[in-house]
Amino acid sequence: MDPIKANPIEALADAKHEFGEHGGVNMSIEASTTFTVMNAHTMPEIFQGQHGPDEGGCYLYGRHFNPTVYNLGKQVAAIEGSEAGYACASGMGAISAAITQICNAGDHIVSTDTLYGGTYAFFHDYLPLKCNIETTFVAAHDLEQVENAFRDNTKVLYVETMSNPTLRVSDIPKLAKIAHDRGAKLVVDNTFTPLVVSPIRLGADVVVASATKFLNGASDFIAGVICGSYEFIGSLMDLHVGSLMLLGPTMDPRTAFDISLRLPHLGLRMVEHGKRASIFAQRIQDLGIDVIYPGLTDHPDHEVLKRIANDDYGAGGVFALDVGSSERADALMETLQNDERFGYMAVSLGYFDTLMSCSARSTSSEMTDEALRQAGIAPGLVRISIGYTGSVEQRWSQFERALKRVGVIS
Ligand code: PLP
Repeated sequence: MDPIKANPIEALADAKHEFGEHGGVNMSIEASTTFTVMNAHTMPEIFQGQHGPDEGGCYLYGRHFNPTVYNLGKQVAAIEGSEAGYACASGMGAISAAITQICNAGDHIVSTDTLYGGTYAFFHDYLPLKCNIETTFVAAHDLEQVENAFRDNTKVLYVETMSNPTLRVSDIPKLAKIAHDRGAKLVVDNTFTPLVVSPIRLGADVVVASATKFLNGASDFIAGVICGSYEFIGSLMDLHVGSLMLLGPTMDPRTAFDISLRLPHLGLRMVEHGKRASIFAQRIQDLGIDVIYPGLTDHPDHEVLKRIANDDYGAGGVFALDVGSSERADALMETLQNDERFGYMAVSLGYFDTLMSCSARSTSSEMTDEALRQAGIAPGLVRISIGYTGSVEQRWSQFERALKRVGVIS
């Protein structure tokens, strides 16, 4: 089977055809942390990673490779169109491992300026202090600005496919060319858009994602994934300099098993999230309220998304509306949660119910006021990850009532 099949759902169907230990239709959970070696003389080679599970060797130790975790990695790799993948303990575990694997002390990163607050803090605060790695933040939709930010020691161009929370869409093919022409790797956070966009199929080198979000869909596990070439995933397990091997953000096999059970309906979920986000964004816009959703034709990156998106999965399940002030944003979210039972005032996204947060004072609060302004994150911007519980009309009437109640519309 070609692991880099063009259609993500067909690729997943091929990858996810495992039998359980006793012939079960679900793969088994391999709960062992260590694995027996049958012939003592093979131990050194296995330990050095020369005889891994895919080379006719065996598993060795759970922080290195665990079959259940490895299977989940392969399934996500199939979705993303990469040669290989591995699952780890969190999205931040995936991001920090991927970046520290590619960059050494003294290297430089060019990063989009609109990105998840934790990643921003990792680049802006942690990496210079702990690793002597500097980052230049740019508006990634301005390709000239991106090009000009490169230095001789730039090793990574980092973007989110759909940025958090302003939903700017990265032009992956063009960004990949810019990075590759300068000998750097394009690393893309695809947390918001599994199936919707396949960055590796478009030229990215590495995809990272928080599997805490859409990939899982039930807001019950913190998890992350890294997808890339066999060589790159193997390098993360290097005994001397492997970031997953040595920093140890390992996923528990039970978590891997549970998440793998949600992947078969990822496509159905993304379609429904996207359908509802599109209906809500259009209706909010029709009320004359500022709304950000790349599926709307007036979104600045609507055409980019149309060009790079896979067919049939919509434009994502997240939209954001600006209600003018943080006080109004608070009042709206409180009314929606406490009076209307529309959803939950909570960070995160990709849940089956609706999650709402005011980005400037939650998931982007690590950013300075200047950085928030530069990234276009207004104080009254409410990010909504739309769920698919209840009916569309029930949810819309709750939403419209709340808008009236807090004075956003009359
Ligand atoms: N990337 C994006 C775009 C996110 O929104 C988040 C979390 O909100 C992360 C990465 C970090 O993921 P995790 O919380 O699983 O570590």
